[in-house]
Amino acid sequence: MPDLFSLHGKTAFVTGASGGLGAHFAEVLAQAGAEVIVGARREAALAAVAERIRAAGGNCTTTALDVTSSDSIAAVEPLLAKTDILVNNAGIAVDKPFLDATEADWDAVVDTNAKGMFLMTQALGRAVQARGSGGSIINIASIVGLRQSARIASYAASKAAAVQLTKVAALELARFGIRVNAICPGYIETDINAGFWETPAGQAMMKRIPQRRTGQASELDGPLLLLASDASSYMTGSVIVADGGHLVSSL
Ligand code: NAD
Repeated sequence: MPDLFSLHGKTAFVTGASGGLGAHFAEVLAQAGAEVIVGARREAALAAVAERIRAAGGNCTTTALDVTSSDSIAAVEPLLAKTDILVNNAGIAVDKPFLDATEADWDAVVDTNAKGMFLMTQALGRAVQARGSGGSIINIASIVGLRQSARIASYAASKAAAVQLTKVAALELARFGIRVNAICPGYIETDINAGFWETPAGQAMMKRIPQRRTGQASELDGPLLLLASDASSYMTGSVIVADGGHLVSSL
């Protein structure tokens, strides 16, 4: 049986890959055979990720990237010109009561999570259109793009935008051979939520997850490799939820 999930001969670009899920996704894509480009603002942290990938026998290029800046995205166009798989992973969250959140909080979160995804998707779309080959874009959204949680208005709004952006881009980019799909992770342990699980609110949330636990980054490998590879050749505009059943928790 052919290896449906092989990424040999493909180039994958992961945004926000200096830590957390992005660094993990880059390592997994490299293990599946892809040449990997990792982009983020923290170049020293990116160098460490690249070193780990190379030490494991993979091929990795690093690049400075701020997804909120169209100038920064324009500077990576030469790398996008050879990118087959784009993982729009860069993201931030602000955790504050609704009435305390500031305009600056909103702008930072929505610019990173929604505008950044739009600009990167558009840039890859244009690159693929110009060279006439196909591509796969994987947008990292969240279950709070599909349901809601307190204290994260800007984050939930940005992730709902990511889900809708995925669907509109899938609709418009199919004619160029580009598939656009989203993964909505539930609560996966990384820096973005470190420390939360020990708090009373974190413990209470854990009880509402049907599987009664948070997820590990490795539990997103299946959806990631499915969407990155030809195994999902007839999937576009899809939203895959990996959340221990959190979205189907009982009302
Ligand atoms: P993280 O904070 O560990 O990593 C986020 C990464 O994005 C960091 O490397 C950061 O440097 C980068 N980044 C932030 N702003 C950027 C910018 N302007 N330009 C380039 N890079 C930037 O968080 P994580 O948990 O690894 O989250 C990764 C993605 O997964 C995010 O989009 C997040 O919303 C999403 N997500 C995470 C969870 C979870 O439980 N961890 C759940 C659902 C969705």
